[in-house]
Amino acid sequence: MTTEAVSREERVAALREARVVLVSACLIGEACRFDGRSKRSERVLEALEGKEVVPVCPEVGGGMPIPRAPVELSGGTGVDVWAGRARALEREAGVDRTDAFLRGARLALEAARKFGATVALLKEKSPSCGTQRVYEAGVLRPGEGITAALLRAEGMTVLSDEDL
Ligand code: SF4
Repeated sequence: MTTEAVSREERVAALREARVVLVSACLIGEACRFDGRSKRSERVLEALEGKEVVPVCPEVGGGMPIPRAPVELSGGTGVDVWAGRARALEREAGVDRTDAFLRGARLALEAARKFGATVALLKEKSPSCGTQRVYEAGVLRPGEGITAALLRAEGMTVLSDEDL
C-alpha cells in the first residue's frame, strides 16, 4: 500500500469539484465518537453544501460500541496495520481491536463505491479517519489512520477537517 503525496490545494480542489463525498459521520453531528460525542464542524458542513454526502463511522461500522475505550495505533500507522506490522489497541487495557477497525474500513470503502464517492473528508488524528497525523503509542506523529490508508490506496482523494 503506498501513500501518494497530494498537496492541500489539490485535496481541497478535489473536494470542491466532487459531487459525492464520503464523510466522517462525527464531523456532521453524529455522536459516534469514543466519548459519545460528535465533532460537528460548521466549516465541514459549509464545504459539503450542495453535495451528496455519504456519512460513515468506520469504528461503529466495524462493530465498536458508543461510548468505547479510546484506541491508538501501535507499531506503526494505518499503512503498517494493513501490512500486518502494526495493530489498533485500546489505550488503557491494550485490548486488540484491529479486526473491528479493518472491518469498518472495508465497509467505508464499500459505501464509497456503492454511492460513487471519489473524495473522503475525514476527521484528523483519529486511528481510523486521521489523514495526516495519528496517535501512535501516545505520540502524535505523521501518518494516516486505518480507513484513510485504505481509501487512499484504493485511489480516493482523502482530506481532513483541518485542510479546510
Ligand atoms: S473519527 Fe471516524 S471512526 Fe472516529 S468517530 Fe469520527 S467517523 Fe467514527
